[in-house]
Amino acid sequence: MSTTAFDGAGVSPPSTARTTNDLIRRQNLSAVLSLLHSEGTLSRTQLGTSTRLNRSTITGLVAELIELGLVRELPAGAPTGRVGRPTLDLQPDDRVAALSVRVEPQAVTVALVGLGGTVHARLRHDTSRPPTPRRFVQIAASSVEAMRADMDRHYRVIGAGLAVPGLVNANGSVLVAPTLGWRRDPVAARLSDELGMPVTAGNDASIGALAESRFGVARGARNLLYLGGALHSIGGGLIIDGTLLRGTSGYAGELGHTVIDPRGRRCVCGRKGCLEAEVSLGLLEPLLGRRKLDEDELDVELGVVRDPAVLREVARQVDVLSTALTNFVNAFSPETVVLSGYLGVLLSVSRERLAEAVRVHPLGAEGRTIRLERAHLRSRLMLVGPAELAFAALLADPAGVR
Ligand SMILES: [Zn+2]
Repeated sequence: MSTTAFDGAGVSPPSTARTTNDLIRRQNLSAVLSLLHSEGTLSRTQLGTSTRLNRSTITGLVAELIELGLVRELPAGAPTGRVGRPTLDLQPDDRVAALSVRVEPQAVTVALVGLGGTVHARLRHDTSRPPTPRRFVQIAASSVEAMRADMDRHYRVIGAGLAVPGLVNANGSVLVAPTLGWRRDPVAARLSDELGMPVTAGNDASIGALAESRFGVARGARNLLYLGGALHSIGGGLIIDGTLLRGTSGYAGELGHTVIDPRGRRCVCGRKGCLEAEVSLGLLEPLLGRRKLDEDELDVELGVVRDPAVLREVARQVDVLSTALTNFVNAFSPETVVLSGYLGVLLSVSRERLAEAVRVHPLGAEGRTIRLERAHLRSRLMLVGPAELAFAALLADPAGVR
């Protein structure tokens, strides 16, 4: 656990001292609030250790965050909910909240998430077919309406974040979301108009990477490769040097369309043999004779299955995934690789094979081990993840958001 903070002593020329001091103060507020947001509960001493700021600076910053209504003190001796830790006394104020919205081909999920990642409420609306953008906005708005009374009474909602399984640009417009059948739609603006609050949209795998690096198995990782598998698609999210990789248009990380076998199966993108066309729960379900298995059911199913056809197909997909992982690890040099959804299930049934894939290094770099983990947040991932988009501005400048 470490973060960037500035002490400020002796760095400001007199003429710009005031603006520089103000800038440093705001950066430090951001560092302290971000730590509390991802860690949950910390003492002033722990904050000082993590930020390398002195005690009086921490006291002043905490007082300002309390004044802003973003942090609260726990009464001494209050239970912290963590085993084996001493009693701690500061928490992000989870009454400051964001709406988290996720759209999938078969469902629209809305959650109310507090600062610190507390899920206060959630509503899932199943759909019989992928919703159009217009229909999606209607469903999301009616879910928010159902939460409205509670929201207005107890929470300060600062905005909404939206996760889309597709390419989303910096303005929140979807370029293409194949599994939803969406093309060129300003979906964040539509939803913002309907809800009357700012909406930030992003690609679901990038959001997964962000959430796992903040609250999950890759907490604190500066270089993370995240791959999430849905029924018919694979999304990638990359955090490089602590920053989500976006690329020129904001579409970086489309690792599901890495061509693994040019003579392979036809992909929705038009090419052949993309990773997501070759490694897919959609190919396995007919062999299992079951559909719409969730992650937990799939764990059980693949744990006990003895059908040779199923085992062959799982082994084939694991081989393909291994090849892709070796390529990605060589290209991006992550410290941690996180697999989620269907790919997390494959990791559980073939850990050795996949661990081997990330261990191999063509130039024999020694002493470097890459952690290969299954996503921890599971069903919480896509509830807390989209809210992170809405919290981003607040965390970057706590004093600037009223
Ligand atoms: Zn493709």
